[in-house]
Amino acid sequence: MGQGSTPSTAGQNDATRTAPPAVPPPLPVSRLRPAYQQVADQLRELILNGSLVSGHRLPPEADLGGNFGVSRSTVREALRVLASQGLVRTVRGTTGGTFIAHVEPDQVSDYLETSIGLMSGSDTLTLADILEAREMLEVRAAGLAARRREPRHVDALRAAMEREKHSRGRSVRFNEHRHFHGIIIEATGNGLLTVMTEPVFRVLQSRFLSPDVPREFWAQVDREHETIVDRIDAGDAEGAGEAMQVHLSRIRDAYHD
Ligand SMILES: [Zn+2]
Repeated sequence: MGQGSTPSTAGQNDATRTAPPAVPPPLPVSRLRPAYQQVADQLRELILNGSLVSGHRLPPEADLGGNFGVSRSTVREALRVLASQGLVRTVRGTTGGTFIAHVEPDQVSDYLETSIGLMSGSDTLTLADILEAREMLEVRAAGLAARRREPRHVDALRAAMEREKHSRGRSVRFNEHRHFHGIIIEATGNGLLTVMTEPVFRVLQSRFLSPDVPREFWAQVDREHETIVDRIDAGDAEGAGEAMQVHLSRIRDAYHD
């Protein structure tokens, strides 16, 4: 207990050494966003959660302004933001108005291709990342394709294989190659897989494909594709996945940073 005075003295010393802050620390509050952004945020939320459905017309600007308690010009500004994000489109004329956009899978794929293309090659997204993600998607997809394929998918795969064998020139050859892999994804019957994989295929082809791919490379591709199709045709999910893994591991050499 006799030591009790020591900390107290030290505390006083600390207090004299540390000057009180000149400016009080800021309160933990969020800065207010401009009204048009708040309107845009709420409308975007309604679109994304399905309350406002694709193709439906929004109420007139004046009504929306009344709902939100803002002016028409604020609503107009908010709609401009949503239009620039492709979420709404405005149609002029007597039957016109502002409609919730209808998004086609191709639009999403195009957007993803552009974004992945811009990010790729940086530390954020390396070629190894892209190839790894592709294998995760496609090996499982080959198994699903074996379970779910219809005769038309097998026919399309065999036709694509024939065209691949006889195509000349690197870009033609690779387009056929991409098409072959696209049919396998389609055979899974999962529309989201197509949207996700198509941009990956296109970025790999346009950005990372090596300029010189030896003839033997393509001969081996033909043989591997044949094995994959045979397994899919036989409904052998495990075998199809394994054959796809072997194929994708080997063709990694065809891509370079
Ligand atoms: Zn292939």
